[in-house]
Amino acid sequence: MRELHDRGPISRSELVARTGLTRGAIRALVGELVAGGLLSEERGTPQGTPGRPSPLVRPNPRCGTVLALEITVDSLAVAAVGLGGATIDEARVDRRRDRLSIDETIADLAALATPLLRRLPDRDSLIGVGVAVVGVVRRADGFVTMAPNLGWRDVPLGDRLAAALRTDLPIVIANEADLGALAEWRRGTAVGADHVLFVSGEVGVGGGLIVDGKQLTGAAGYGGEIGHMPVNPEGSRCRCGSVGCWETEVGEGALLRRAGHAPDSGREGVDAVLEEAAGGSRTALGALESVGRWLGFGLAGLVNVFNPQVVVLGGLFGRIHPFVEATLATELGRLSLPQSREVVRVAPASLGVDAPLLGAAELAFEPLLADPALWIGQAEATA
Ligand SMILES: [Zn+2]
Repeated sequence: MRELHDRGPISRSELVARTGLTRGAIRALVGELVAGGLLSEERGTPQGTPGRPSPLVRPNPRCGTVLALEITVDSLAVAAVGLGGATIDEARVDRRRDRLSIDETIADLAALATPLLRRLPDRDSLIGVGVAVVGVVRRADGFVTMAPNLGWRDVPLGDRLAAALRTDLPIVIANEADLGALAEWRRGTAVGADHVLFVSGEVGVGGGLIVDGKQLTGAAGYGGEIGHMPVNPEGSRCRCGSVGCWETEVGEGALLRRAGHAPDSGREGVDAVLEEAAGGSRTALGALESVGRWLGFGLAGLVNVFNPQVVVLGGLFGRIHPFVEATLATELGRLSLPQSREVVRVAPASLGVDAPLLGAAELAFEPLLADPALWIGQAEATA
């Protein structure tokens, strides 16, 4: 199931090669999953080799759909994603800075999700909800311990969303950057890598780490908060209470302030800076250069600690990548260990700003992928 969900339709013989299972085992498993409605099979196309072509197996998106939600300071997004990873429907709206409270966020998110759910061709196919949020999350129960840039503390987000969406589907919640890392690792620019650093910029800066093929979570699930890595003892105060955190130098506010825009002008402000920079504005280019230098400074340290194969730049950093690429290379060349620098590739997120949203969908698919047989059993029991 995981091979088919991640890689799309493949032949039975390719499934044998990829999973290392026997032909007989693949035939039996595919048969069971086709009978349960999770997969479909069609006649394969002849490959010019003797014998019958191997049947093509594909996931059935109508039989498993998840709702993905994303909460950031600048925008709210929802998507319906089918088994196999195709986005069925999606909506994203910019947010006003005076509507960040938990009550307003829940109301706005429900207003965005409700019409999308109504448009779904088959609502009964929904199997779960995944949520990405710019905050520190206790994954076990979807409790947001703190989200400094939203001004949230101790929010039972899972319970609140279940009530607002009037659903008893399982709701799983995780940190935005952790989910961006997951999506880029499964389907994006980091496919096939075992050591990945995902760095995502918005108002805050988030990090998601894949170490040795596993997501790094830390002892209590709070690992990877690289935005609050102290980089400048002479720097400005951070929303987390500390001073000179990385995000105070490379976050959206720092870019906008240096470019002469209101630091809370959000995605519109960033659009304006990028337009000015493309037009050759010295102030805009200088602001990007400065953010690029601080970004390179922090990345050099992280590359030395984690020795990743890929650094994926998400959100704001993916958008400004063309302007900071050269500065980043200079700073990494100046500050990181040559042995680590030689193996690392720095690239913008290939899933763009949707990486965390798609990662939330991946998280919601986890229970089904981990044990599809159990899921078939439940579907039959409720049918
Ligand atoms: Zn901080």
